[in-house]
Amino acid sequence: MPRIDLRRLETLRGLDLTVWPPGYRANYQPAEASDHWYPEIECADPGERDDIIFRKLQKQIQYAWERSSFYRSRWEQAGVSPATLKCLADLPKFPVIQKADLRQAQAEHPPFGDYLCVDPSRVARIHGTSGTTGRPTVFGIDNGDWERIGEAHARVLWGAGIRPRDRVLICSFFSLYLGSWGALKGCERLGAAVFPFGAGVAGQTRMAVEWARQMQPTALYSTPSYALHFAETARREGVDPRSFGIRTLFFSGEPGAGIPSTKHQIEETFGGACIDLGTMAEMTPWMSSGECRHRTGMHLYQDIVYTEVCDPQSYQPVPYGYEGTPVYTHLERTSQPMIRLVSNDRTRWIDEPCRCGRTYPRLPDGLYGRYDDMFIVRGENIYPSTIEDTLRSTEGFGGEFQVIISREETMDELLVRAEYAPSHGDPEKLNALRVTIRERLRTRLGVHPVVELVPSGELPRHEFKARRVVDDRELYRHSAGERQDEV
Ligand SMILES: [Zn+2]
Repeated sequence: MPRIDLRRLETLRGLDLTVWPPGYRANYQPAEASDHWYPEIECADPGERDDIIFRKLQKQIQYAWERSSFYRSRWEQAGVSPATLKCLADLPKFPVIQKADLRQAQAEHPPFGDYLCVDPSRVARIHGTSGTTGRPTVFGIDNGDWERIGEAHARVLWGAGIRPRDRVLICSFFSLYLGSWGALKGCERLGAAVFPFGAGVAGQTRMAVEWARQMQPTALYSTPSYALHFAETARREGVDPRSFGIRTLFFSGEPGAGIPSTKHQIEETFGGACIDLGTMAEMTPWMSSGECRHRTGMHLYQDIVYTEVCDPQSYQPVPYGYEGTPVYTHLERTSQPMIRLVSNDRTRWIDEPCRCGRTYPRLPDGLYGRYDDMFIVRGENIYPSTIEDTLRSTEGFGGEFQVIISREETMDELLVRAEYAPSHGDPEKLNALRVTIRERLRTRLGVHPVVELVPSGELPRHEFKARRVVDDRELYRHSAGERQDEV
């Protein structure tokens, strides 16, 4: 395969990789029929693409070293410097950073922390997390970064099948949720018509249904929980969700779009493709992990954000085929670059081909849980996503569920409270459903849950990210606020 011709990329696609941060041509667009935004890079021989990634990484690390006491002091302590990085495989020698480190840096150097690498006067956009527990995180983004975020998101959305002729309805919060703003920016750059509708105000979902009926959007962005809530609301209003004509639904913020039964349910409900996307708000362009229209798991667009799937203790990369947690590194961020930020999500990566021709590694099962989401019941590690997958693939399940963990004397109790569909209301069917759910959960979880069935519509719906687990045990330390900044 020929080496990637940088001069050709510049003339053909307006992408200048000889400078850092790279230069982008603001009006570039591939041909409508093209599957790829930058085919020369997306489908390149991985080794040749690694040369480009390495050059970008060198520049990013040198930049952070010169401008950020946050990075310089950590790296000096770990005995590394830009000179340590002689090839891509040297990156794991650099220490990881955790979200707690960022919060601490912002407390000590308010408001942006000493990892802000530009003069504060150059910050053009301020975003943040809602910080329901503890200190909110502040994002200071300069104009150059914001434009590059648009470039990256347009490219990934193109791969997901969004085109300029699409009309995109965005049904997620437009306040402290960077996900919405990133989706908006990407769709605008791609040239689609965008309707930033929002979410979270009383009665807004009913209005969204009404607007969707009028506007006939061809694409929807929200959280997976919200999409299901939106569909239920539509049906209550007498509207079949399929009648909107939505052909692409793209999601972030929750694992749902990567959970097979939830994905299937969303696709059946709307009659469109369910696309899983997203990393973390800090890592914006957070779409750097994203499914293509073939939906074979999220591609890691390694030349946008470099992702290593690592052992959750040593933070060294695990081989393809193995499970670990993503550790992310920006390659073209000037305002608040993240270098080896740990996500604590749980995933598995592979390096097998996809029908789309992209040669990036992939997360075939998406992000299927978090290391800090996991709870232990009677010695078994349990993830909420396993319970969700089991319930949603059971006929007769009514749409929502709760998990309650408590301790009776010395033994843990796992109670799964699930809704049943109206079709399963008679006592005989109800009993059979309870037995089926209990047996399936026991097989997948390794513990005997107590299953309680309640009528459909009884449990709380989620306008944003679902909170379905309640742990009543004393030692439980799950921090609900932690999830707010996942996109
Ligand atoms: Zn693909």
